[in-house]
Amino acid sequence: MKIVIVDHREEGFEMEKKAFVAENVDLFISSCKNEEELIETVKDAHIIIFTFSKITANVINRLTNCKMVIRYGVGLENVDIKAATEKGIYVCNTRNYGTFAVAEHAFALLISVTRRIQLLDHNVRNNIWDMQSIPPVYSLQHKTLGITGFGNIGRYVCKMALAFDMKVIVYDPYIEQETVRKLSAEKVSFDDLIKNSDHITIHAPLTEETRHIFSKDVFGKMKNTSTLINTSRGGLVNQNDLIMALKSAQIAGAGIDVFENEPLDPHNELLTIKNVVLTPHVAWYTEDSIVNLHQEVIDEVIRVLHGNLPQNAVNKIR
Ligand code: NAD
Repeated sequence: MKIVIVDHREEGFEMEKKAFVAENVDLFISSCKNEEELIETVKDAHIIIFTFSKITANVINRLTNCKMVIRYGVGLENVDIKAATEKGIYVCNTRNYGTFAVAEHAFALLISVTRRIQLLDHNVRNNIWDMQSIPPVYSLQHKTLGITGFGNIGRYVCKMALAFDMKVIVYDPYIEQETVRKLSAEKVSFDDLIKNSDHITIHAPLTEETRHIFSKDVFGKMKNTSTLINTSRGGLVNQNDLIMALKSAQIAGAGIDVFENEPLDPHNELLTIKNVVLTPHVAWYTEDSIVNLHQEVIDEVIRVLHGNLPQNAVNKIR
């Protein structure tokens, strides 16, 4: 069996080397400069592991033995999934490696904004030693957290909120009330979520249905003491409307990891607003997540090497 890791950058792939040696397979690690080089390297591979390489129909049609292509990451825009399916090749991604890290980051943003951590830090550095210089601070205890999107990340955030003695309400049209109640939360309509939440955190995917789900009208209905946290995708929030809502004190603050356009324009007005904590799309990142990422790929490859079906395939092979 031949496994190829393409677009090799700085990583040593020590975990993969160790795991695959034990499986008695030939592991090749390469960096290909163009499509022809890529084809030459992978044409007889059984499994291809990649990140940024374009696995086009042209590449796929030249593969002779391939059973699976798997990406370090979630997005699969650089694979021709249709061509792979027609050729009987599973297309897999890695979905779980950063789940807890994103939940943790969302909660870190929530605490930073509500406890005004970055303003207080700035004050200490400028010898301002009081609490009158910052807006009022309220505890999270006994407040209501609204979670939009109750999947893997949303559920971890729910557990964290419950540990802070918060009440949790959820908007997710695709999850049953029973499932939500089992996690000690309550499923509500979107309108009820935005009106009744003291803070809202977004964990739904970006789809046609969710694009700009948070815009002018919604900010108008939110409590003016509330905070919006977004670690999902920038497109769920109308950024200009968010800026207006923050400037006109319709909401009290925001914690944002994801933006409509990334990187954020250095002249973007969001950068001038005080009650906002911004991070550069790094919610997923911890050193632990990186280990998880490699392990998730290894586990999937070994599953397939042992003749089992992959768990993270996005296509079906007959
Ligand atoms: P998931 O698929 O487990 O959960 C998504 C949930 O959203 C599902 O329960 C689904 O039913 C719900 N949903 C779908 N459409 C909805 C709608 N219209 N309204 C409300 N809920 C809706 O995904 P996850 O692993 O929890 O990840 C959530 C999102 O986090 C991803 O879509 C991704 O955009 C984002 N993410 C960000 C980072 C980062 O570093 N910032 C990293 C990983 C994932």
